[in-house]
Amino acid sequence: MVALVFPAFPTVTLPVTGRPERFPVRRIFCVGRNYDEHTREMGGEPGTEPPFFFTKPADAVVESGSRIPYPTATANLHHEAELVIAIGKSGAMVTEADAPAMIWGHAAGNDLTRRDLQAEAKAARRPWDMAKGFDKSAVLGAIRPGPMPDASLRCTVNGALRQEARLSDMIWSPAAIIAALSQLVSLSPGDLIFTGTPAGVGPLKRGDTCKVEIDGLQSATVTIA
Ligand code: MN
Repeated sequence: MVALVFPAFPTVTLPVTGRPERFPVRRIFCVGRNYDEHTREMGGEPGTEPPFFFTKPADAVVESGSRIPYPTATANLHHEAELVIAIGKSGAMVTEADAPAMIWGHAAGNDLTRRDLQAEAKAARRPWDMAKGFDKSAVLGAIRPGPMPDASLRCTVNGALRQEARLSDMIWSPAAIIAALSQLVSLSPGDLIFTGTPAGVGPLKRGDTCKVEIDGLQSATVTIA
């Protein structure tokens, strides 16, 4: 046993649908611009570049049903409804054909974004970390084990529909995303991958309840206190 100068931080975990055990979270990767209309609303041209990635720290995780404070340093907090892949096996340089075997399960997620800081970072050619990887920026429902058939993805704010798409509308499939990401880093059990959001991203204000729903998965719901 290694002596520590202060107690180690607890492992971040998420509930698992239908099982008492929880899923330990290692790292959180996120894909940018993975739906045509959202790519256009962000000022890009779909299909012109391979998938790119950014990250959030594991302790940015917020469990569905939580209330969180409006984040500091922003006046334009945005929701991004996304399918999240939970990785269950190690793998590097995997092919698209081998990628599905690395998937442990899936969850609904909300990639909360400080859109104003992201716009500033883009303009200044600076990193997105503080626009994307801030405290409590990764809202997640329970992880459901097994494969993910095509399904409808929706985001509502106080019951009003803001985003709606089919998972099959993604430019890069989950297998293609895993194959591409595994060229850049070795993936490990516990890693989560947010797969990108469709069009319709928009602001959240204090008092709003934002719900990300994917057929067959627990919703990822958060209230801004
Ligand atoms: Mn996103």
